[in-house]
Amino acid sequence: MSKRRLAVSAWSLPLACLLALSSGADAQTDRSSEGYRQQGEAALTRLKNSTPRPARARNVIIFIGDGMGVSTLTAGRIFAGQSLGRDGESYETAMDSLDHAALVKTYSHDAQVADSASTATAIMTGVKTRSRTLGVGPEAAFEDCPAALAHPLPSLFDIAQQRRRATGVVTTTRITHATPAATYAHTPQRDWESDTDMPEAARREGCLDIARQLVEGPVGARLDVILGGGRAAFLPRTRKDPEYADKTGGRSDGRDLVQVWQRANPKAAFVWKRDQFAAVDPDRHTRLLGLFEPSHMQYEADRARDGAGEPSLAEMVETAIRMLSRNPQGYVLMVEGGRIDHAHHAGNAHRALADTKALDEAVATALRLVDLDDTLIITTADHSHTLSISGYPGRGNPILGTVAHTPGTPVLAKDKKAYTTLSYANGPGAVSASERPDPATTDTGAVDYRQQSLIPLSSETHGGEDVVVRASGAGAQLFRGTIEQHTIFYIVREALFGASDNHQ
Ligand SMILES: [Zn+2]
Repeated sequence: MSKRRLAVSAWSLPLACLLALSSGADAQTDRSSEGYRQQGEAALTRLKNSTPRPARARNVIIFIGDGMGVSTLTAGRIFAGQSLGRDGESYETAMDSLDHAALVKTYSHDAQVADSASTATAIMTGVKTRSRTLGVGPEAAFEDCPAALAHPLPSLFDIAQQRRRATGVVTTTRITHATPAATYAHTPQRDWESDTDMPEAARREGCLDIARQLVEGPVGARLDVILGGGRAAFLPRTRKDPEYADKTGGRSDGRDLVQVWQRANPKAAFVWKRDQFAAVDPDRHTRLLGLFEPSHMQYEADRARDGAGEPSLAEMVETAIRMLSRNPQGYVLMVEGGRIDHAHHAGNAHRALADTKALDEAVATALRLVDLDDTLIITTADHSHTLSISGYPGRGNPILGTVAHTPGTPVLAKDKKAYTTLSYANGPGAVSASERPDPATTDTGAVDYRQQSLIPLSSETHGGEDVVVRASGAGAQLFRGTIEQHTIFYIVREALFGASDNHQ
């Protein structure tokens, strides 16, 4: 290690990051005037003394919290700190420790409030596209196969593989779900995850289901690490699921795509439960496919109760980094905390925040394993949700609790009932004003508690405000200001390959 590199490392790995990596940072213990002054001065010193990292990165890790808007980040930080018995408001997460940040405009080609397929496509291909389409340009209308086949967009993974970088995708959703699929698939309908999901006409016109694109497509077939849920789309209906006696595969065409993948990768490992995953040897297995559930993996809050056992997101990230980093050319890894979004749709803040914390632990794991002088780490969200942090709760009030200025003195609404700090603008937790249940009579911190909302909808919706992208490491300094979501692609491409190359 060069002298210069040592000097850079010492200054630019923020103190908060080191603390976050050790045991979780308790950023503020002294709440006197002098304590705040010292905290501010120390932060200023760190900012002034930070030295830019190299512009070019060998490796890139993109963390996407699906639906992880700014209110989720704030509530998730307080949740993470409070669950460790610390001051939640001033707690610093691993994501908070990253050096650079920008606001990101998330609208899609045709929607003010976007879905995950179009937003993940923007990040992965550098082009905004139509909602619910994946990896195809805005020229292709929803479900228009011929147009989709005529307008595929090369993804960052495509370019990285052509430059002999190793590639990996890790998610807690089905591996064929919108965000992971944006790295390797092209389809005018994000729901075409298996052949059973597709109309006959689409198959006739030459569209391939997303699971087949993962195993047989030009990018999918070259992925080195694939970890997530979604087993059913890879197994025929006639096959029993290995984990659940009452479930079968979901394919109608009789194909066993796991077997196809294994034949194509004889020195690779296929795993579907935690102990198999733990036995994977990064030095012996060249590639890894892990499908831990027929559908999405468990929420972090429920993971311990999974019958066959599932690895945590942080454990999957550790194995992925260990396997991918054997490639001397470097690697590109996408990691999705995919179920933050699902818990929000259910109006269930507890699970959303627990999954946000799990994603943060995965970021901390990555920061521990990589050298930021050759690796760019990015955390962002595809879109936000309608979660609101409101009322005037006192500092230290439980983030999942009812609003109280001081413990035991609840603030009452006009209907003389308590209300929770967290609520949603819409969703399944909607209550009529006259019959609003008093949250003071329930355990609002319970894992199944559904926050109250205003507009009744069976599923809470995405939010349209900007999200944040944060980054540390090689090439991170280009993340600043307010950017379009598809600009992320160009910044990452620049960090990996520089501007002089002809890219496409
Ligand atoms: Zn969603």
